[in-house]
Amino acid sequence: MEANQFKDFGKEMIDYVAGYLENIRERRVVPTVEPGYLRPLIPANAPEKPDKWEDVMSDIERVIMPGVTHWHSPRFHAYFPTANSYPAIVADILSGAIACIGFSWIASPACTELEVVMLDWLGKMLDLPKEFLACSGGKGGGVIQGTASEATLVALLGAKARAIDRVKKEHPKMKDADIVSKLVGYTSSQSHSSVERAGLLGGVKLRSLQPDETNRLRGETLENAIKKDLEAGLIPFYAVNTLGTTSSCTFDRLDEIGPVCNEYNVWLHVDAAYAGSAFICPEYRYLMKGIERADSFNFNPHKWLLVNFDCSAMWLKDPSWLVNAFNVDPLYLKHEQQGAAPDYRHWQIPLGRRFRSLKLWFVLRLYGIENLQAHIRKQIELAHYFESLVRSDDRFEITEEVIMGLVCFRLKETNHVNEVLLKRLNGRGVIHLVPSKIRDIYFLRLAICSRYTEKSDIDISWKEVKETANEILA
Ligand code: PLP
Repeated sequence: MEANQFKDFGKEMIDYVAGYLENIRERRVVPTVEPGYLRPLIPANAPEKPDKWEDVMSDIERVIMPGVTHWHSPRFHAYFPTANSYPAIVADILSGAIACIGFSWIASPACTELEVVMLDWLGKMLDLPKEFLACSGGKGGGVIQGTASEATLVALLGAKARAIDRVKKEHPKMKDADIVSKLVGYTSSQSHSSVERAGLLGGVKLRSLQPDETNRLRGETLENAIKKDLEAGLIPFYAVNTLGTTSSCTFDRLDEIGPVCNEYNVWLHVDAAYAGSAFICPEYRYLMKGIERADSFNFNPHKWLLVNFDCSAMWLKDPSWLVNAFNVDPLYLKHEQQGAAPDYRHWQIPLGRRFRSLKLWFVLRLYGIENLQAHIRKQIELAHYFESLVRSDDRFEITEEVIMGLVCFRLKETNHVNEVLLKRLNGRGVIHLVPSKIRDIYFLRLAICSRYTEKSDIDISWKEVKETANEILA
């Protein structure tokens, strides 16, 4: 493809993308295809001679769209949102053109330097303590990881390096393997599955602690677990505090957990994957009270801040634990300016990294903080609107306080009836929800996901829920 053809193809694709998104409301949210639907639609082998781009273009509707779940449909209410905006899409085109692999400063100085500054911009938008910001001149700074799962694992590995270092100073004869076998980390039974996975990948024990009756992990529970493990000769080293749990968007008591972690020298990682975006609004920052006690903090602009996947923002007070833990420095990756700016390859698992800060830069500039705050507030307002509709029908109950853009609700019936309700509801294809279960109570989760969702869409979603309930309860 030559540049002129690229211009034509590119323009046609931009038109297609705008048309797709602006008319997404018309599409069925979840496709009806069966597994294996795609293979018969395309040839068994790659073409020997180039296909025409007109044919490629027309295959999008024929081959791809029938199998797409439309995450940006205003009536997609499953999981947590994944972000989508025109500024981020345009920035990704530029990132694709530059196509650098920014593993070190010299590999593309703009890629590293824009990321450092964007993480400062974003950190200031959340009012993070200055110890997390590179512009404060201390050790701290931010990095863009691919996902929150990677951030949790990277933090765990940093915590592991710090704990091994500390124990070796106290007991110089102890071997690494002996120390690692005694390390123990903590999380809540309500934290995301990626936390348990980080423990498995990091080769350490992680305890899943019981939250209180409102599903929040409390400081006292953590302290009791740490004391018990210390008595048993183990080495507490890492804890994850979730702000906005996946099942029900509840907030662990960071104000209680932070002091416990600091007292026992336990690395505190805060996972605010979804809800963290809301902290750009000052009225929600009470939920991150105690953040100054954390060692690392992470949230996903790619969930709720209009930056397309992947962009998971992570800040560390002392990244040197990662840099030292992951520092393998072959000659071919060395450069003369080493140490003058971050070499982000030491802050993450892979070597390669895309120019992801471009999409953050475009989104922050082209929306401005005011419009991003308006986006968050509108989505929370829509969640409260749905909550009010549920509360107006005594057959239903709300199972968790609605704080962000997630409403957890159920029929006041058995789990089985609620399972049937969800199955029928999703089967109708107008809206899409997923369930969860806490303490054996099954409930439905309705998340406000799309930036296209309006009050009229919520009315439609509620009508669907009510009509399906009528059918089942008849
Ligand atoms: N942490 C929480 C609280 C989440 O809700 C999620 C996903 O929804 C994750 C972590 C995992 O996010 P990622 O897909 O970015 O790894």
